[in-house]
Amino acid sequence: MREQPWHFRRITHEHELWFSNLRDIHALSSGWLAFAKLAPSKLDAILATELGRLMDDTLPEDVLGRLEARIWAEQARAWQDAARARATGSKDLDTAGALLLERSHDEGERVGARDWAHAFAAKPATLEQAFAALTGSAIAGRPGPAAFLICRSVENELEADLLRCPHSACADPSLRERADSLCAAHLGWMKGYVRALNRGLAFDSRSARAGAAGHAQGRCGIRLTYLN
Ligand SMILES: [Zn+2]
Repeated sequence: MREQPWHFRRITHEHELWFSNLRDIHALSSGWLAFAKLAPSKLDAILATELGRLMDDTLPEDVLGRLEARIWAEQARAWQDAARARATGSKDLDTAGALLLERSHDEGERVGARDWAHAFAAKPATLEQAFAALTGSAIAGRPGPAAFLICRSVENELEADLLRCPHSACADPSLRERADSLCAAHLGWMKGYVRALNRGLAFDSRSARAGAAGHAQGRCGIRLTYLN
């Protein structure tokens, strides 16, 4: 293990925010497991503690990076286990997947309401405000680097590509097998999140399908428009 001077290992607000985002991402997996009546993840206890207690003598970003990789791996497994547990036969796997997508949407809506209900109680978020909230949400992952690339922005419409989604963020090749399902779940989460901020916004998405080698063909993206 590489030792670092203590002043390099100081936990900053950005680290705490990243840790908080990881908790919200993991809550998605926990929700699927609970829905399928499966045993909770061991990560629940780790994420319930304070970030400071997880520190070793490596840098906070290294600790968080390793934790993030573990959460991704766990999420891929949680999806597979929950889908299989809910399906009564192989033909029902699609139905079970659709139910998990519904859970993902509801979880995004719960987090969106938790974070923003107070701010937009009197007046729903505008399209710009909803997108800004999304770029700072847990689904954007590590704070700082942009998670979205705006492709088109006019008064009533905004289109953006996802720069980090399960198709590109799964470093482990074995996880890429689940990238299509996980990305659909994350897009469902985003849809629920935006709905919590303004029910008058339409959220459409396109998901790149993983190719034979596991690499996504093109980028996934989202589109926000006003319903009226
Ligand atoms: Zn994707």
